Amino acid sequence: MALKVETAHGAMTGARYIESLRDGREVWLDGERVADVTTHPATTGMVHELARIYDLQHSEKYRDEMTFVSPETGKRCSLSWLLARSHEDLKRQRRNSEIWNEESWGQLGRSPDILAPFINGLVAISDALAEVKHPKCNFAENVINYHRYCMENDLFLTHALGDPQVDRSSQPQNETRAESETEVALHVVEETSDGVIVHGAKQLATAAPISNETYVSLSATFMRRSDPRFILSFSIPTDTPGMKMLCREPVSQWVGSYGHPLGAVYDEQDAMLFFDHVLVPWDRIFMLYDSAPLLQRLGSDANFRGWGNLCRIHQRMKVMTAVATLIADAIGVIEYREVSAKLGEMAMHTEMWEHAMDGVEHNAYPADNGFMSLGSVSGMNVYFAQTSQRMVELLREISGSGMIMQPSEADLANPEFRPYLDRYMPGKGVGVEYKSRLFRLAHDLAASSFGMRQEIYEYWHGGDPNRNRINLLRNYDQADVAERIKALVAKPLRS
Ligand SMILES: Cc1cc2nc3c(=O)[nH]c(=O)nc-3n(C[C@H](O)[C@H](O)[C@H](O)COP(=O)(O)OP(=O)(O)OC[C@H]3O[C@@H](n4cnc5c(N)ncnc54)[C@H](O)[C@@H]3O)c2cc1C
Repeated sequence: MALKVETAHGAMTGARYIESLRDGREVWLDGERVADVTTHPATTGMVHELARIYDLQHSEKYRDEMTFVSPETGKRCSLSWLLARSHEDLKRQRRNSEIWNEESWGQLGRSPDILAPFINGLVAISDALAEVKHPKCNFAENVINYHRYCMENDLFLTHALGDPQVDRSSQPQNETRAESETEVALHVVEETSDGVIVHGAKQLATAAPISNETYVSLSATFMRRSDPRFILSFSIPTDTPGMKMLCREPVSQWVGSYGHPLGAVYDEQDAMLFFDHVLVPWDRIFMLYDSAPLLQRLGSDANFRGWGNLCRIHQRMKVMTAVATLIADAIGVIEYREVSAKLGEMAMHTEMWEHAMDGVEHNAYPADNGFMSLGSVSGMNVYFAQTSQRMVELLREISGSGMIMQPSEADLANPEFRPYLDRYMPGKGVGVEYKSRLFRLAHDLAASSFGMRQEIYEYWHGGDPNRNRINLLRNYDQADVAERIKALVAKPLRS
């Protein structure tokens, strides 16, 4: 798919993003087909919030911090798509991701700066992709062209990696599993002159119903297969015929009060993807039948390469710590030793994350091909999955029952009832209105269905944390200290 320079749009605007979603995409929710995701109650909040942030890319305040000028088209493009070649480039990208996440309170697992680095990562390993030969497609060329196309049009991508959760009793590379999964896991059923026909499903793709493009690949868990037909990576427009999306239950539809300040706008939807004999054109395929290049480079150059996820986690922790502190103040418990210590623990986790991000930046290095790679995040990948639970727990412990016992907006507006609320439900030096809205925020971070979805996301989105712990251990170089310990225990106890 060659880029048409003359029709490239440059950095996304809110209006163009909204219009781009009004196509023939097949989105299903609660037994019905969604006619327009830009107006449906389950998705409209998120769509318009993303549109708002897209528009910031064009504002005087943020233009230089969020975009750069493309040398090819002269258009401004999002910094998310920049192929970093210097420490300075990485710094600019970090700032861009900070803005996306400050604006969205660290709530977006799939803000547009999350997936762009996946594609940037593929460009960075295009030399390895070029080593796999197929008579009908050039994988490296496809990746490079696709990156240009996405960058120059600032497209919003989702991604789908895992097989459907049907039967995990054997490993993906097991031949028996391959046979049974011909029924469910995504695979090639036919090659045609236009491309490959794929059939099967993918377990989960966050923000798929509101994306422009769906990037499909395999995670480390699913990369090794006995049957090469299951090995494929590609990207297609989200309205491609035959691709159907099943949405999960929306987490924050009841917005008739202050009840869901975050969920009302940041429910990015997660969808199961079904592919019913979908044509994937040859020029949109990045890997076929051979996963070796991706396997070798996955995690180091090709996966979660950017700042988006790291900045999001940091921002979410900052917000949780600040909300907990304001709540402790609002109910007069902040001076209690136990409460202060818990707040201190929240601040500690937040600080540690920022220090780790600084370390990742400090350890960034130019790879052989000249592209910059951030330092290793393999320890951080595990840390966030387990620390998020602790942050939620601390916020709940500090808030007490106020996290759930707050009046609604309609209660506050009722003149007959309001005197009771003013008398019995204010805080220490703060009115009931402020206090209830503050607690509602805590509720949406740590107790509502939105908050719980966020917590589940945090635990799983980097892949199975146990697998990540094991991979971390396998690659953890302890040779030096292990040798010293062996030498120590080999010494006689007394000389
Ligand atoms: C909110 C949310 C959003 C997500 N968004 C995306 C997305 O946008 N794109 C995407 O591709 N993915 C996404 N994911 C999927 C995520 O990557 C997976 O949830 C994760 O990799 C775990 O896979 P699974 O859910 O299929 O669980 P399973 O693999 O079915 O695991 C279930 C349990 O079985 C255990 N288990 C499974 N297999 C084995 C084994 N072989 N050996 C030992 N134990 C095993 C696991 O440890 C776990 O306890 C999302 C997940 C969530 C929850």
